[in-house]
Amino acid sequence: MRTVKTLFFAGIFSLISLATTPSPDTTEANRVIQAALQTSPLETNLQRLTDEIGGRVPGTLAMQHAVAWGTQAFTAAGANSVHTEGFTIPYSWSEGATEMNATTAYQVDATKVGGGTVLSSFRVRVVSVAWAPALASVKHVPVVDVGEGTEADFKKAGDISGKIVLVHTVVLKTWDDLFAEYAKAPPVIDLAVKGKAKAIAFMATRDHDILYRHTNSAAGEIDRLPMVLVAREDGERMARLLASGNLVWADLSIPNQIGGPIKAANVVAEIRGSEKPDEFVIVGAHLDSWELGTGALDNGCNAALVVDALRAIKASGVKPRRTIRFILFSGEEQGLIGSRAYAFNHRNELDKAAGVIIYDSGTGKTTGFSVGGRNDVLSTAKELIAPLAQFDVKELKPDMEWGTDHFDFMLEGVPTFVADQQEANYLENYHAVSDTYDKVDLPQLRKHVAEAAALAVELADLPEKIGPRLTHEQIEQTMRDTHSVEMLKADGIWDDWVSGKRGRQKN
Ligand SMILES: [Zn+2]
Repeated sequence: MRTVKTLFFAGIFSLISLATTPSPDTTEANRVIQAALQTSPLETNLQRLTDEIGGRVPGTLAMQHAVAWGTQAFTAAGANSVHTEGFTIPYSWSEGATEMNATTAYQVDATKVGGGTVLSSFRVRVVSVAWAPALASVKHVPVVDVGEGTEADFKKAGDISGKIVLVHTVVLKTWDDLFAEYAKAPPVIDLAVKGKAKAIAFMATRDHDILYRHTNSAAGEIDRLPMVLVAREDGERMARLLASGNLVWADLSIPNQIGGPIKAANVVAEIRGSEKPDEFVIVGAHLDSWELGTGALDNGCNAALVVDALRAIKASGVKPRRTIRFILFSGEEQGLIGSRAYAFNHRNELDKAAGVIIYDSGTGKTTGFSVGGRNDVLSTAKELIAPLAQFDVKELKPDMEWGTDHFDFMLEGVPTFVADQQEANYLENYHAVSDTYDKVDLPQLRKHVAEAAALAVELADLPEKIGPRLTHEQIEQTMRDTHSVEMLKADGIWDDWVSGKRGRQKN
């Protein structure tokens, strides 16, 4: 996932030149970049992860094989150490053979043969929303159009009790559209539950019959109502029929299999620091994916990037002063569960964390990095990314974001660097059947390996860490400064922050 829920966007940072730290030496960064651009197992590793192993949902055999892939690939890349760290996801979930058939009635001239009221049925191409409950087969359930699913729309639709509500959507084109898609669902679910609907049918936000896996569950809990995603073309057909006065009924069966807690694991490899081995930089990406496609853009390519960044640094001969940890997180798609577990379990050593770099947006060209609301790191970061100007990586955004694995490190006060990337082909294939190896821009991915490896080495080599670990009060001030509080409240994260359930503890 990367929903790029930008909590605040201040535009491109224009540097007020007040460099307070000595200029970093970029010679080593350039050596690392050269090593990254050489031929490597990057493509082979990615192909194995996507074509051979395929989609990787925690709790499946494929996910176990992906963890083994990570361990093996890191070892082959020359890691000083590799291990896994387990954590738990509250429920397992997998889709059965979800089926939906729609029936409508229309009139044919009664004086003709076969005239009168005619029933016609068509198959609706459909998948269950992830971590939504199962629905035992139901027949001939009325479908009601609730428009965009606002409160006014629901009111207009009237009685929805026992019915399937059809929700309109817009075609996904920008990062903001994706954010809007995620933000839209919770209030729709509230209204559907309140009105005692049988199930929700969301229209797909992609054209051409593309289906994709979506979840509205925040952290691996089972949602409140059965929900399906219907192919846009079928959804629009039902909507047009209803709009022109035809009744539409559906048969629907969602035999999802739901079980108890899942054991999942992050894969952690290290290049040990030559001078300050107990201080560390993290380079991370999530290894898990949805399973309709093979999780190539989201996020197999960047898992392979993390492995290859380790290889490139080793191959360059550069010996970073601080340790660099390369982490393949799991459970990201279920709500950042692996990175949250890691940040929680390593809370006591995060004073020694010198930065967290995350890639999670396919292979659209990197334009820069979002720095988690940290104005204090901007001037040094500007110098650190100077060697990346050859790849047009130039922008630093002092915003706080939700939606990928830096999040819980940011809430722990650690400086974070999330790669900002162009949309490219990411959104049309997002979580979809079409997210496969052929969509990956391999030459671009190699440049991203170079960026991540170079930035990691520079952060590891700075005389002093790029910024301190912020206190609870400082983080909260950053949330206020970046106007993030409302967004955190809307996501239900604010309460966890205030109660101390999530993020940096008060002193
Ligand atoms: Zn992702």
